[in-house]
Parts: sequence; C-alpha cells; structure tokens
Amino acid sequence: MPRVELPVAPRPHEDELISSWLGRTAALYDLDGEQLRQWLAPHADRLARPDIALDAVEAAQLAAACRMAPARLQELDLARVWPGLKSEWLPQTAGHQKRALSHIDLAWCAMCLAEAHATGGAYLDHETALPLIFCHRHHVWRHDSCRRCQPRKPPRFVYGARVELVCADCGAPLRLQQGITPRPPYNEVTPQSRFALDALFAFERAVRRAILGHYAVLPGVGAVPPRQFLSVITDLVWLLTTPLGNYDSMINLFASRTLPFTPNHAPWKWEPLVYSECSPLWRAWLLSAIVTILAAEPVSHIMSWHVLRGRTHQNLEWLLDRASRGSLIYLAVNFAQDADRWPHELRERAQAHPKWIRDEIKGEKAAFDAMCAERNRPVGIE
Ligand SMILES: [Zn+2]
Ligand SMILES: [Zn+2]
Repeated sequence: MPRVELPVAPRPHEDELISSWLGRTAALYDLDGEQLRQWLAPHADRLARPDIALDAVEAAQLAAACRMAPARLQELDLARVWPGLKSEWLPQTAGHQKRALSHIDLAWCAMCLAEAHATGGAYLDHETALPLIFCHRHHVWRHDSCRRCQPRKPPRFVYGARVELVCADCGAPLRLQQGITPRPPYNEVTPQSRFALDALFAFERAVRRAILGHYAVLPGVGAVPPRQFLSVITDLVWLLTTPLGNYDSMINLFASRTLPFTPNHAPWKWEPLVYSECSPLWRAWLLSAIVTILAAEPVSHIMSWHVLRGRTHQNLEWLLDRASRGSLIYLAVNFAQDADRWPHELRERAQAHPKWIRDEIKGEKAAFDAMCAERNRPVGIE
C-alpha cells in the first residue's frame, strides 16, 4: 500500500520530463517537485535528478501515489527515451548566478510553452533537458533564465485557469517572453548572414545527434562517432576559452555575422569551461567559432568577420599558432591518454603543427600544474 494517495494528479504527456510532471503535480499542493518527491517517496534511493535513471522503487512509489502504472513513468526516463544518450552532457550546474537552475538545468522554448499552454497547460518536454541553443521546430532561441529579472530560484509551475510555468522570483509567465529570433547584428540580413545562421543550425543538429549517441557530421571532416565528435568540441572549447595573456582568450577573436554582440571573455583562472554548462548565447558563440575553425575556407570566411577585415583564415593551424602553451599541454595530454580521441585527419593536422608538444608531456604537465598552483591567479601562461 502506498503511504499517500493524491486525490488529484495530472497525467504526464508522452514527451514530458519527469521533473516537469512532478512540478505540475506538486503545484496543485503548493509544493515544488522536490518537496513532492520527499513526501511521496521518502525512502527511495534517490539520484540527484528524477529525469534520468529514476530509481525503480521511487518510480513505483510515485506512480502508486498518483494511481498510475509505474511503466508510464519509466517510459519518460531519458535513459529509456534515448538509449545512447551521453548523460554527462546534460547540464547540471546548480544555482549559477543570474540563471534559473535547479537540480536540472533547462533551456526552454517560449513558443513551445505557449503552444502547450494554448492546448491545455504548459509543460517541459524532453528536449528542454539537452544543452541546446535553439528550438529547431520554431527557429528561435532557447532560454535558461527569466528575461525580466535576474532570478535566484528555478522556475515553477502555478495553476490559474491553466497551468503556467513562471519565474519564481518575479512571477512572469515564461511563455510570454517571446519575440527573439536569431538574426544578424546591425539588422543586416544578407545571403551570407542567412547562410551563416543555417550553418549554425545544422551544426547544432549534429551536436544533438552526437549527444544522443549517434554518428554525426563534423564540419570539414565528415561523419564521425559520437565520442570523437564530442571530444573535438570539448577540446576546442578549452583552446578557445582558457586564459591567454592579460584577461583575454581566443574566443574574443571570432565575431559572428549572425549572433548578437561579440564575446568578451576575460578568464583569470585556469578553469575549464564546459560546453553543456554554458548559456544558449555562449553555446552559440562557441559553435559558430568551431564551424569557422573546422569548415572549408569559403564556409569559414562566411562564419566570421575576421577575413572581411583583411586577415587570415581562422582554421585549426591559426588557432594552434595563437593558443596558450597551457592549452597545448592539455591537448597533448588528452591525445597521449587516448590516441583515438579525435578523427584521424584532424589529429594528424594538430600533431603536424610546429608548436605541437611531442616530448616530455608528463614533465610539461607537472611543471604547468606547479606554476598554476604557485600563482594564486594563474593567468598569462604563454
Ligand atoms: Zn519551440
Ligand atoms: Zn523573473
């Protein structure tokens, strides 16, 4: 017998996150999703997030309390929906300032929320859990924070005439925060800027495929296994964002034709930037720079203003020329640990570079780590 049986509990949608269903159910009882979990399944062997690998005992307790078959809940488990999912790529930072995060980091589409609201009530679908930039159904930006305030708390569901997802700080319904479609800065829509945006959309679809465990097309390379695809992204994000000189990093040299603003990244610590933990705008900057680096020269020229300003092709060799010594050591260590980390031709290009570190990698790494530890603020490592 279940401890509790709720008098009213909504049924989950077929494509709904378990945390979203918990949140909607909890809102009926003036609770949040986590409080409801504690109440209905207090002894379950609980992992941090209910959306993936939900404990079978907990699933049974939650389902019984809501008078549902446990299978109905287990079908929504992301590990079941996407058996090849690289779960380490699901965003999981908690409580970053200015971002409305909880036990699960979300990137929602306001138009998807509005559609769901119009047809019964807002909920969050499975895609919301992935580290995406855009909604590929509506061709708009995803958001991970209220745009009216700087929330400290994760968004929550509330009941009015219909269920709403609102900012927990200012109360604004998040479905109403629409109207931002990706477009070039300066209102300049040209065939080139349209092409650059389409290239970014296509690349993000490939990133999504790789995260779901499928082969995906890496620009300038071709179809590669998901593990290699994601390793290239991880490593290039490091090369682009680790400290260089005085409060500078390589990402600042990639001015996209398509994205608002230009990154101004001034790291002062040697700390990895993790793609999946970045905001949608940051992910867009990073992917746009990575297409520029990997794609054939004509595509690359369209992705960044750099060449138009009379400068050279921003390819992999250009990046390695200017990257910090620390990031080259990091890359050499990664290659030494896993010779198959990058696709063959890309790895050969990196290893053929004059600055490539071939000898004494362990010693270099130890010296570098010692230098970082010695300086309180490990910047300016050339
Ligand atoms: Zn959408
Ligand atoms: Zn707000």
